[in-house]
Amino acid sequence: MPMEQNVPLAPLTTFHIGGPARYFSEGKTVEEVREAIRFAQAGQLPLFVLGGGSNLVVADAGWPGLVLKIAIHGIEEQTEKGKAVFAVGAGEEWDSFVGHAVQRNCSGIECLSGIPGSVGGTPVQNVGAYGQEVSETIASVLVLDLRDGQVRELCAEACGFRYRTSIFNTTQRGRYIVLQVTYGLTPGGAPAIAYADLKKHFAGRSMPPTLAETREAVRQIRAGKGMLITEGDPDCRSAGSFFKNPVLSAEKFHELERRAAAKSLPVPSYPALAEQRKVSAAWLVEHAGFHKGYGSGRAGISSKHALAIVNRGQATATDVVALKEQIQQRVEEIWGIHLEPEPVFVGF
Ligand SMILES: Cc1cc2nc3c(=O)[nH]c(=O)nc-3n(C[C@H](O)[C@H](O)[C@H](O)COP(=O)(O)OP(=O)(O)OC[C@H]3O[C@@H](n4cnc5c(N)ncnc54)[C@H](O)[C@@H]3O)c2cc1C
Repeated sequence: MPMEQNVPLAPLTTFHIGGPARYFSEGKTVEEVREAIRFAQAGQLPLFVLGGGSNLVVADAGWPGLVLKIAIHGIEEQTEKGKAVFAVGAGEEWDSFVGHAVQRNCSGIECLSGIPGSVGGTPVQNVGAYGQEVSETIASVLVLDLRDGQVRELCAEACGFRYRTSIFNTTQRGRYIVLQVTYGLTPGGAPAIAYADLKKHFAGRSMPPTLAETREAVRQIRAGKGMLITEGDPDCRSAGSFFKNPVLSAEKFHELERRAAAKSLPVPSYPALAEQRKVSAAWLVEHAGFHKGYGSGRAGISSKHALAIVNRGQATATDVVALKEQIQQRVEEIWGIHLEPEPVFVGF
């Protein structure tokens, strides 16, 4: 397995930011992954597991140890109790797999079309969009446990999925390498048209949309928001949404309503948010003065989405962190809410 040195990480991320990895290798099989881990352990090197690089802010100094890109491929399909069960290698591109499932006329992940990154990255933050989350269809996750080197199959319950979290990015962070994810989809199932944007897109149609039409609609809506990686669109040089929608206690929510009322603003609410008393982070950011297109520097806010910090060209991780802190501070001052970043900070 080739082990490279001083490999620039910026081109391996959607943000196009960050310094080099001291060592870099790709694991195409479980044995190659094990070999890379042995190399890191022997040299007492810190290990970072890379997927598609779409949820990362890599430090300007890069990563001082080994970056191991998971490149395990393959999609196996079988039928179990009326479900189409897909076991997918962690290194497969997520959106290609969604396309494959839709082509096989299987529902359950069609609204997650157009999300960049790898299959192995999806359980980590329980990827979600347009009314679906992978936790609804993940049956199990095959992992390599770095504590004892064993391969284990974790059932969905064991993954502790919640909004943008799982054990992989909270209690067991750094313990597991995802090798394969198994999704249980519904053959011939109807698409989930629950989200306002999607309902609007299909309003007035007499026939319900197909899975393929739903996938296409989601991709179109995402492109309009700079949330689809599109060649030549500077608004998608980002890590997607930069902040999570805060989940508030009843008390905090009333405090927010009070502050909003003092400015004659209604706090936006729609079912997907209200269910968990989530507040739109984009609304908080926009109403703290950070409008779409904000900033004249190298890092700014997307002209299509208030929640995406974008690299306008030569931005550094330091520029991004400075803007992040400016936004967090202002939102806290105005709304009394601390915004938590969604991307993973690497090498800080
Ligand atoms: C334009 C754009 C739009 C986006 N839209 C959405 C959206 O709608 N919804 C959403 O939820 N996210 C969205 N994202 C964020 C991102 O695409 C997802 O979080 C994605 O699942 C990250 O996967 P990745 O393979 O790129 O992971 P990476 O960015 O490479 O890594 C992210 C984290 O996962 C870990 N990781 C990755 N692979 C593995 C593995 N095999 N084993 C163990 N750990 C691993 C890494 O160590 C790191 O901690 C968007 C990003 C962009 C750039």
